Parts: sequence; structure tokens; C-alpha cells
Amino acid sequence: MKQALAVLWAGPNSLLGLLLGLATLATGGRAQVRRGVVEFYGGMASWLLRHLAPEGILAMTLGHTILGLSSAALDYARDHEHVHVRQYQRWGPFFLPAYGWCSLVAWWAGRRAYRDNYFEREAYGDEC
Ligand SMILES: [Zn+2]
Repeated sequence: MKQALAVLWAGPNSLLGLLLGLATLATGGRAQVRRGVVEFYGGMASWLLRHLAPEGILAMTLGHTILGLSSAALDYARDHEHVHVRQYQRWGPFFLPAYGWCSLVAWWAGRRAYRDNYFEREAYGDEC
């Protein structure tokens, strides 16, 4: 029951991930399920991840979906991304605004918008 509520609470974010996942499949990408999460890689997911940040990123979590650069990138990033899955389960539809806010606050304070974001620090196992 608790897990069903967590899936529902993260649902709007998962829906966005599924839409991007469908676009990934339509552009030659692949899908797989690992640890109860739907992962998409290749196709549009790879293009998006290469263009989201200047340095590129390996993977991105949206609710109970993960977009990855490749299958190998997903294997490498899976533990980190599953911390974000649990964050989505806690924050639900408020996760993305809260994540954006934390990046803004970090940047404003002269720190790194990505790496010093509270949610990333937790996912990387830093002391928060
Ligand atoms: Zn992360």
C-alpha cells in the first residue's frame, strides 16, 4: 500500500518520463526495467542528456523512470539515480520545483548549481 501511494505521488513526474521515453523509443532508443523502475536509453534520451548540460550528463530521473545516455551509463549511475527515485517518492509533484530552487540558492550563494544542490549532495552521499 505504501509503495502504491509512493508510485501515485511521484506519478506526474513518471508520466513526464514516460512521454520522453516514448519519444526515445520512437527515435531508435530502448527500454528496460531494473529494480522496479523503467529505464530508457539511446535515441532522444541520449540527445537530450548531451544537450542539457555543457559537460553532458549520464542519466536523469523523472519519478519512476530514468533516462540514460546508454545501457552502460545506466549501470554506472543506477545507485545515484535511485536516491533520486526515493526523493521523488518523498516530494512528489514538488520535487522538480524544490530541485530548481535548491540549484538557484546554491548558485546565488556562489556555489555550484548542480553539485552543491541539496538533492545532489544527498544522492552523492555527501554530508547534508
Ligand atoms: Zn543526481
